Amino acid sequence: MARYTDAVCKLCRREGEKLYLKGEKCFTAKCPMERRNYPPGEHGKRFTRRRKVSDYGKQLREKQKARRIYGVLERQFRRYFKEAQRKKGMTGAMLLILLERRLDNVVYRLGLADSRAQARQLVRHGHITVNGRKVDIPSYLVSEGDEIGVKQSSKKLGFFKDLAERIADKPAPPEWLSFDQETLSGKVLAQPLREQIDVPINEQLIVEFYSR
Ligand code: SF4
Repeated sequence: MARYTDAVCKLCRREGEKLYLKGEKCFTAKCPMERRNYPPGEHGKRFTRRRKVSDYGKQLREKQKARRIYGVLERQFRRYFKEAQRKKGMTGAMLLILLERRLDNVVYRLGLADSRAQARQLVRHGHITVNGRKVDIPSYLVSEGDEIGVKQSSKKLGFFKDLAERIADKPAPPEWLSFDQETLSGKVLAQPLREQIDVPINEQLIVEFYSR
């Protein structure tokens, strides 16, 4: 399966803002955005004072930012957009709701992983179950009532044993999810609402981008 393999911090530097793609490191002084807040590449520093951006440029950057936050490549992102268009309601909001329902995002939101990239790896490696059955597809869309858990044999791994201590420092899951620290399992209480999705994205710009 195709995926982005270059240094992810370059993505934040390209967007000119923190996208929080690396978990703990994002909150420390080691974050490259603290020291090199200019686009990557040989001539990046020349653009420290960012140039005036056209409407198209703004729409493109917003779309790229959303893709990068959720770790989705262009083709799949376009498919989500088309699916969002078919749904009742505001297309932009529907798009974000679809992205939030991805299993890797839900694992991250529950606090089982430090970043969406790590959550994707946990899913790909078969550590995550949905309604008691292993699901190793990060793009799997969860539905209301689904129970997300850690495979019984995986709970013996050091990563999950330490998790209880680490999870206390993490933000609580959003209202549409519940989490039981004892059993390391969570439940989808409802479909997320747009106002419950705390990503810094102006989805209207993405709609405009694809409606050109
Ligand atoms: Fe972005 Fe996190 Fe890397 Fe900082 S450490 S540049 S916030 S991914």
